[in-house]
Amino acid sequence: MQSKGNIAIDGPAGAGKSTVAKLVAQELNYVYIDTGAMYRALTWKAIKEKIALDDEEALNRLAQDTEIAFEKKPGTKNQIVLCDGEDITLAIRSPEVSQAVSQVARVPAVREILVGQQRRLAETGNVVMDGRDIGSNVLPDAPFKFFLTASLETRARRRYKELISKGYQTSLKQLQREIAERDAMDSQREMAPLIKAHDAVQIDTGCFSPQQVADIIVQHVRERL
Ligand code: C5P
Repeated sequence: MQSKGNIAIDGPAGAGKSTVAKLVAQELNYVYIDTGAMYRALTWKAIKEKIALDDEEALNRLAQDTEIAFEKKPGTKNQIVLCDGEDITLAIRSPEVSQAVSQVARVPAVREILVGQQRRLAETGNVVMDGRDIGSNVLPDAPFKFFLTASLETRARRRYKELISKGYQTSLKQLQREIAERDAMDSQREMAPLIKAHDAVQIDTGCFSPQQVADIIVQHVRERL
């Protein structure tokens, strides 16, 4: 398994992983890979095709038959997520997908397929990959591993602001409940649960801006490269 220069960033929902990972990738000129978006893409398609979220065989077939890709949006710095060629970047952030995704992500056959794809994406080296099991399972040899945390209140507040700005109706209380449920499912599943790798550097992002956290990571990496 190749992990040349790769950076693994894990942590619970809303800890700021994707914002920070994008900034780090930009600063180091690395490729950013959002593994949560891959589980979300499959979940979006499962909902669209009315697949029961406890039908492991159907989800396995779905994972085998689905092509998930990341592309740069022309003329911008932004990345888009494609599912079988369709741009689903915005759709996968819906509360409906957020509530269902942990059920899809707990299916071992789904994880095997997506983890295989994630490892292939990282073969080039110099990727920043964020998720739940990157340091512990997907890229255990990655030379740089970080685990971002923040209190449930802080994480729910961040998600609240994000969703409201996108026009979704929700409440802080409801989001706290949903995030806590998702964390519990992600931490307690049998296969590759959310866990801090023993050699990951833990950062509590509660009192830092995303840029400050990215600066800490970039400095740590540069000092050791
Ligand atoms: O990172 P994000 O919140 O978008 O991830 C959505 C969900 O995808 C997580 O709650 C988790 O169930 C699943 N996931 C996972 N393993 C990863 C990344 C995400 O199980 N490496």
